[in-house]
Amino acid sequence: MNCNVTLLKKFDIIQNKALRIITGAMCSTPINAMQCESCIPPLILRRIQLASNFCLKLISSDNKSVMDRILPPQSFQMSSTPPPKISGSELISGHTPELLRIAMNIYELSINIYKAKPWPLYKTNFVILVNKPYNILRDKINNQMELNQLMENKSYYKLYTDGSKSENGVTSAFYDPQLQMVKSHKIDNNSSIFTAESYAMLLALQHIKNIYISSDILILTDSKSLLMALDNNSQRYNLNYIIYNIRKIVYEICQLTGKIINFLWVPSHCGITGNEIVDCAARNGFDADHSSLMKIPHTDYQAAITHDLKRLWHEYWNIASTQKGKWYATIQGSPPAKPWYTHKNENINNRKFITILNRLRFGHCHIPTHLNRLNLIPSAACSHCNEEPAADLEHLFMKCRKFGLQRLVMVSDLQAASDSVPQSLQDLLRDFKFFKALYTFVVTTIGTL
Ligand SMILES: [Zn+2]
Repeated sequence: MNCNVTLLKKFDIIQNKALRIITGAMCSTPINAMQCESCIPPLILRRIQLASNFCLKLISSDNKSVMDRILPPQSFQMSSTPPPKISGSELISGHTPELLRIAMNIYELSINIYKAKPWPLYKTNFVILVNKPYNILRDKINNQMELNQLMENKSYYKLYTDGSKSENGVTSAFYDPQLQMVKSHKIDNNSSIFTAESYAMLLALQHIKNIYISSDILILTDSKSLLMALDNNSQRYNLNYIIYNIRKIVYEICQLTGKIINFLWVPSHCGITGNEIVDCAARNGFDADHSSLMKIPHTDYQAAITHDLKRLWHEYWNIASTQKGKWYATIQGSPPAKPWYTHKNENINNRKFITILNRLRFGHCHIPTHLNRLNLIPSAACSHCNEEPAADLEHLFMKCRKFGLQRLVMVSDLQAASDSVPQSLQDLLRDFKFFKALYTFVVTTIGTL
């Protein structure tokens, strides 16, 4: 974050050029509007994201020598309260947040992080890494009948596991139908659903390890991704540490009992009684609170970082749009989840369509008022009807006498697109379903923008 400002400026220029190519915008179009339209945030936000992820990884790796340089212990003694979150107004004013401040914010966020030195991969016994003493029955069940037969097979000791994440919190639950036992555990709210499902599996396996079992074991889960992680034998350094713990305990159970552990994916909400019971347990309350006991893998915090960056971009946009891109801000109130031109539609293959609509939405296009404002033409008068002294978009679309016939076609197209057609051009430019009609009007009248 403490980089040469001149060098950073060069990157900004490259990004601006790329944004103009992507959106087809004119040179005069404000940068903040292009960023919003293309869903590509300012580079400062990208740098904050990279710095945040770096700090997260560093805290997780528990690397004291690097940590002490970035997060010196005295910085905690100096202030008992963490520094305030970075705000949009700071970024607008050109202030670049220091790495220490980002690190302290991340430290505060990830108080319950799983710390590992070395990474879990290197702590796991080699025998466990190369052996897979369990079966994943995913591909061996061909139809409902085979599934029912397996479910009714009394020779298996069955267990159901489930994880749940909602605004009420995150829970991991398992159900043992043989002992009629259901256990639900609350875990940290920052946990991902994958972690909740994995932890539920780990708890079920710990339960098995503590009781005497004389038959093979069948564990049923509705998490396909968990079984895939167990199946593909991935040995990435940043793989969720709970997966390594699951593999370790499975290995231990196999060594102790000589029994085989089978995993099976069952779809949720399909009327399988055991699945419904464990799902209900995961959703409604908990028996034990493991929120501080169970540590969170560092990757789970990335969702919170992304969420905070969205908040920061919205703040940045709200302030920046009061200065630049005011017309565009009346159409697009906040950065969208994805650009409108990435929707699947036959028109969007057409580059001209995207350019014309983007220019209309930006309000920066080849029309007399705008070209005159840029001192490119001497007069802002309408060259088509010679009546209007200031030919803006409103005039061309709604009033110009030269285009009466094309306007009738446009109105008919707009009415075909929706039962309620808005009256203002901004409202029309807000809704994707009207774009085709507006595009046809431009192409059949002034030709291009
Ligand atoms: Zn006119």
